[in-house]
Amino acid sequence: MKDGFRLYDTHAHLGAALHSGRVHDTSRLLHAMDRAGVDRAMLIPFPVVADLRREHDLIGAALRSYPDRFSGAACIDPFLPEAEFRDELRRCVEVLGLRALKLQPQYQALNPLSSRAEFFFGLAAEFRLPVIAHTGTGVPFSLPSLFIVPARKFPDLTIVLGHAGGSVYMLETIVAAGVCPNICIELSSLMPHHVLEILQHVPASRLMAGADLPESLETELYKILGLEISNAEKESILWGTGRRVFDGESDNP
Ligand SMILES: [Zn+2]
Repeated sequence: MKDGFRLYDTHAHLGAALHSGRVHDTSRLLHAMDRAGVDRAMLIPFPVVADLRREHDLIGAALRSYPDRFSGAACIDPFLPEAEFRDELRRCVEVLGLRALKLQPQYQALNPLSSRAEFFFGLAAEFRLPVIAHTGTGVPFSLPSLFIVPARKFPDLTIVLGHAGGSVYMLETIVAAGVCPNICIELSSLMPHHVLEILQHVPASRLMAGADLPESLETELYKILGLEISNAEKESILWGTGRRVFDGESDNP
């Protein structure tokens, strides 16, 4: 809680990253969250890991220990054999209680227009899991506009455009969310004025805050607190949208 607002970091990473050498354990994340007044975080595996099942187990253990502080997402190589992908996704949902599926196009070169993407997004829809798609770095497959295609093919699926395309492709997220009511935008990496520009076109009920890394918690979440927007909009971006999309809860007043 900060300035009377509950805070949901909808983009956090737990585990060990091979590509960066980062290691985030639960106590480190909780310490950073407590420092910043963050109530809840969506835990996501790093994109390049030694053993994805082990990373999922770590997130499952964090959810069991701190159900009031964490939700969790799976991240599975989209090019695994289909049966293997399906089995691990089912285990993540039914055994570990994960509630979203992350796509990392900068490391997992899945073309959102391909038949393989139809398998990936179709399975997410079947398991009723929102997809969090990293957008921005890693073009072409991380271009926000490409996610219009799976969003239209699976209208009951929610697709969250992580990092809002970054500053360079931010306008594409406005276009994608404008034509697809099932597309939401996670705002990490944007400048505050970019958030205001998005709000001119996309309601706060489809926007959510995220930090990506613990050292960015204050920067990313407090930038929303500092905007000249209504308290209702802040509440949605900082808490309500994430709770509704990921946790199926609507506890707005
Ligand atoms: Zn990330």
